[in-house]
Amino acid sequence: EIVNFNMFLDRIIERFEMTHKEDVQFIKNFPNTAIFTEIAIDKMGQVLDNVISNAIKYQQREPKRVEFYLQQNSYYNRLTLRIKDYGLGIPNSKVDRIFDRFYRIDKARTRKMGGTGLGLAISKEIVEAHDGKIWANSIEGEGTTIFINLPSEVINEDDWDV
Ligand code: ATP
Ligand code: MG
Repeated sequence: EIVNFNMFLDRIIERFEMTHKEDVQFIKNFPNTAIFTEIAIDKMGQVLDNVISNAIKYQQREPKRVEFYLQQNSYYNRLTLRIKDYGLGIPNSKVDRIFDRFYRIDKARTRKMGGTGLGLAISKEIVEAHDGKIWANSIEGEGTTIFINLPSEVINEDDWDV
């Protein structure tokens, strides 16, 4: 299905805002133009649910902060979404492994937080099935940014008249 990704993402963030009124601050940096992309809405929703849940779960300082940066790279017809938190972060040597099945950074630390360690492995499968890429940048003790890059297009007003 072709969706306006700005609106799609905004709805998901709104759902989190409703359940985290008190403890999480969500900051949105969206472009003025709508970015269109063809996605399986349920699956891509699952990806964003997991990445945003992680950003909240692996963050302890309050108020927690999750920042969203959405950008269109028109020349290459791709969009990039960055989801940034100020949480526990991930040691450099382990940052690529978080996309492996059942991998969790610190068994003791994460056991009490629940989860299976499958969220990002499934997210990666879904993103790659959309011809996309997902990766992470992190500084231990400072925070993590998840990058999602997907095919997209900007529909120019010029193209509207049929
Ligand atoms: P599940 O998503 O299946 O409920 P999970 O959250 O542990 O469980 P993943 O989402 O796959 O599993 O994440 C894998 C591991 O990567 C996590 O256990 C955690 O150690 C680390 N991790 C993921 N996101 C972050 C983040 N934003 N900050 C710090 N660590 C993270
Ligand atoms: Mg998770």
